[in-house]
Amino acid sequence: MEYVVVSKVSEIIVEARRKGRKFLLESEAKTICAEYGIPVTKFMVAKSPEEAVEHAEKIGYPIVLKIISPDVIHKFDVGGVMLNLKTPREVSEAYQKIVDNVKKHKPKAEIIGVLVQEMAPSATEVIVGAVKDPQFGQTIMFGLGGIFVEILKDVSFRIAPITIEEAEDMIKEIQAYPVLKGYRNMPPADIETLTKILVNTSKLVMDYPEIQELDLNPIMVYEKGAKTVDARIMLE
Ligand code: ADP
Ligand code: MG
Repeated sequence: MEYVVVSKVSEIIVEARRKGRKFLLESEAKTICAEYGIPVTKFMVAKSPEEAVEHAEKIGYPIVLKIISPDVIHKFDVGGVMLNLKTPREVSEAYQKIVDNVKKHKPKAEIIGVLVQEMAPSATEVIVGAVKDPQFGQTIMFGLGGIFVEILKDVSFRIAPITIEEAEDMIKEIQAYPVLKGYRNMPPADIETLTKILVNTSKLVMDYPEIQELDLNPIMVYEKGAKTVDARIMLE
């Protein structure tokens, strides 16, 4: 049987499957998110320090570099993430450092290159997730980043597909909602953009039931707009 490639998303999924990969690369996951109107950091793939610098000049400083490897799921833990690089020299040195770190921590890891991306200014961090439940099918999760999710388990869930109203309810029902509404000198977060991200995530996992898990962690939410800083997608 011949495969008919209908979109960039299925093209990425078919290619990953062909190579026997269950986890998509961050670049692939972010491309898929962008196709569904989920805002992500600008990014470009580099295969050498020189190329990383060329990309950095196009994207604009400060820059973040990350390892691209199908064998590295938690990039930070193996020294595979370098933040806030401000000059061509820092970018070029960080490229080498990242490759060295990964070779040291995981000698057998296949290294595809390094992902060059814009450094998203820090802001309120949220997490959007999707998990395919054997009983309920695709489910959507929402919470605030860091301790809110990890320690306080302050999250909301819905079964996909979700409507705009359901997405709004998900945002309002977490304990930490007042944080999103703004406090002291923190401006309010862009709830409308967050709502769209939730609805679009729901659309994505409904369109592609082969997505077992999706993790947008963290998403920086600004007064206007938002940026997904890390995206992970796991296939069935
Ligand atoms: P990991 O694979 O370890 O989860 P991440 O891509 O999440 O790696 O990077 C680790 C942390 O670095 C993030 O949680 C975030 O705090 C920060 N970070 C990563 N990418 C960016 C970026 N483009 N802009 C700003 N901060 C970033
Ligand atoms: Mg992460």
